[in-house]
Amino acid sequence: MPPRSRAKGATILAVANQKGGVAKTTSVASLGAAFAELGKRVLLVDLDPQACLTFSLGIDPDQVEASVHDALTGAVPLADVIFECGDGVDLIPSSIELAGTESVLLGRPGREYILQELLAPVATAYDLILLDCSPSLGVLTLNALTAARGLIVPMPCEMLGHRGVGQLLDTVRDVKRILNKKLDVVGVLPTMYDGRSTHQQDVLADVGERYGIPVLAPPIPRTVRFAEAPAVGRSILETSRTSKGAQAYRAVAKDILTRL
Ligand code: ADP
Ligand code: MG
Repeated sequence: MPPRSRAKGATILAVANQKGGVAKTTSVASLGAAFAELGKRVLLVDLDPQACLTFSLGIDPDQVEASVHDALTGAVPLADVIFECGDGVDLIPSSIELAGTESVLLGRPGREYILQELLAPVATAYDLILLDCSPSLGVLTLNALTAARGLIVPMPCEMLGHRGVGQLLDTVRDVKRILNKKLDVVGVLPTMYDGRSTHQQDVLADVGERYGIPVLAPPIPRTVRFAEAPAVGRSILETSRTSKGAQAYRAVAKDILTRL
C-alpha cells in the first residue's frame, strides 16, 4: 500500500447520539486507547459540560485552569488547553463553564465553524481526533459535526429497534447540505450487548437495513467492568486488558480504520 500523506492531519470523528447513557463517552475513551495501542497519535475532545470524559481520564474538571470553553470563546489558543494523558492519548478537557458556551456563541456569525477552525492547526500533530458530544443536537454538537469527517453513533442494542437514530440522521443530512459536505456516517456502534438475548440478536441482524447505514462490529458486550474503569482515571483497556469489552473495542477500532 502506498504511504498515506500526513500533510492534511488527523481524521476527525464525532461520537454523537442525542440520547444520554448510550456509551458515547465510554466509546471515546476506549476507542482512543485502542487507537493509541495501534500506534496512532490520538486527541480526545470533551464537548459535554458534564465532563465525564475529562473525569474518566483522571483530570478533575473543577481544577482545570482552561478548558474547551475558553478555546471556543476565543479566550485562549486551543493548543494551550491540551493535556497529555500518557500512552499516546491527549485530551482537551471540558468544565462546567461549557454549559454557558452555547449562549456565548449564539450571537456569533459562523458559530458552527469555530471548532473546525480551531482544530485545523493542531490536527497535523495527530492521526485521529475523537469528539465526545453532549446528549443534545445544540451548537456544540453542530460544531462537532461540522469539524468531523465521520460520525460514529453508539447505541445500546436494546434501543436499536426504536428508530432513535432517525432524528440524528436528519441532522446529519442538514449538516452535510449546509455546513460540511465531507461528513459521512462511519457507522452505528451497538453497545451494551447481551448475547443471551435472542431479541437483541434479531435487532442487531437487521439494524443496518433499518437505517441504511453501516453497523460497526463486533457489538460491545454489556459488562460491569465499564463502570469500574472511570473511577481510577483509566479506560477499560488499561484496567481490564483482556476483558471481552476491551477486546471488542480493540476490534471495533480496527474495523473503523478499514472504513476510513
Ligand atoms: P454517554 O456518554 O452516552 O452518556 P456513558 O459512556 O457515560 O454514556 O455510559 C453510561 C453508563 O453506562 C456509564 O455508567 C458506563 O460505565 C456504562 N456503560 C457503558 N458501556 C457499557 C457496557 N458495555 N456495559 C455496561 N455498562 C456500560
Ligand atoms: Mg457522555
